[in-house]
Amino acid sequence: MAFKQYAVVDKTLCVACGACEIACPLGAIKVHKGCFANVIKDKCVGCGKCENVCPANSIKRENREGI
Ligand code: SF4
Ligand code: SF4
Repeated sequence: MAFKQYAVVDKTLCVACGACEIACPLGAIKVHKGCFANVIKDKCVGCGKCENVCPANSIKRENREGI
């Protein structure tokens, strides 16, 4: 099943707190080397749970192309 959206992290705003990683039910977002969060695009279903908990407002969802 294809999902229309996926999460995108603004690395310039992310403070690597890890809240998104805890909130994601699918393990689709991981804090990378303690610097910023990174979304595994193929796993993300665009549910927005990470976006809702991010204290830095650094996550937004974007439409996948071609869906
Ligand atoms: S949008 Fe949902 S599935 Fe995608 S990274 Fe965020 S919490 Fe995980
Ligand atoms: S919740 Fe926001 S600030 Fe915290 S690691 Fe995730 S993207 Fe970065």
